[in-house]
Amino acid sequence: MQAFVTGFSASGAAGRGNDGVAAKSHIRGAPHVTHARRVARVATLSMGADRVFFVGGNWKCNGSKSEIKTLVESFNKDAPTTSDVEVVVGAPLPYLEYTRGLLRSDWGVSAQNCWIGKGGAYTGEVTADMLADVGTDWVILGHSERRNLPELKESDATIATKTVYAISKGVSVMYCIGELLEERESGQTIAVCERQLKALGDVIGSDWSKIVIAYEPVWAIGTGKVATPEQAEEVHEAIRKWLAANVSQQVADSTRILYGGSVSPANCDELAKKPNIDGFLVGGASLKPDFVKIVESYKQKV
Ligand code: PEP
Repeated sequence: MQAFVTGFSASGAAGRGNDGVAAKSHIRGAPHVTHARRVARVATLSMGADRVFFVGGNWKCNGSKSEIKTLVESFNKDAPTTSDVEVVVGAPLPYLEYTRGLLRSDWGVSAQNCWIGKGGAYTGEVTADMLADVGTDWVILGHSERRNLPELKESDATIATKTVYAISKGVSVMYCIGELLEERESGQTIAVCERQLKALGDVIGSDWSKIVIAYEPVWAIGTGKVATPEQAEEVHEAIRKWLAANVSQQVADSTRILYGGSVSPANCDELAKKPNIDGFLVGGASLKPDFVKIVESYKQKV
């Protein structure tokens, strides 16, 4: 996949800054607030509340300290400062604290996985408690690579369990869902997404304020084959309807639904114009300085 500034490659949202200050509320137009105040605001979201545009970057298993330093310096310099977009970058585990230390304070840092519960004799695993302890406010869960790689094969139930535990520890979750090519071709797209949502709905209860849903059709991830704005909007609308019917209207109105799959500076604006697309989860293009152009697609909403 694409180069990460000068070298690292990828296939294929708010946290504490380098000054320990957290990013903003997800209610559009809110002033820059601390993490605790943002959580309180989110809890009072009402029906019809505006959703703050959200752009997540997923660096996957790529990078080195020097590459991250170069990339983050460009983000710190070139990206706009505004409360109209929330931006979170997903760094590999060994670089979470390093990234947090370098990155502008109004952008968050995310992990890309965590264990299903609390710690113990689980060699190689990392808990949400640990992520929170090192200042990581987000984790990406249910990514199609973790669902589908033969070495990993995480189930709907495992991902849902991880999600509930992460939010119980104060770590927000980008909850990824999406269909395989053969599922789309056999007309199962909505059914697959609903099954993946139901797995979470069965265990999470009524508070979805620490969840952002990322709809990522697997056939579009890392392939250069982006869903059309109409294809993406159709699924996003169905996800919002599912939330209204199965959780609550308030959760349907306030939950950000991101599109992911070959988003680039060239296609982001057209996607962002769709009413149910509240932002993006970006893989390959988040490894380059012009990720900032994708961040700027929030302007389509204001
Ligand atoms: C992803 O990995 O979540 C993703 C969307 O990747 P890409 O943007 O490279 O398709």
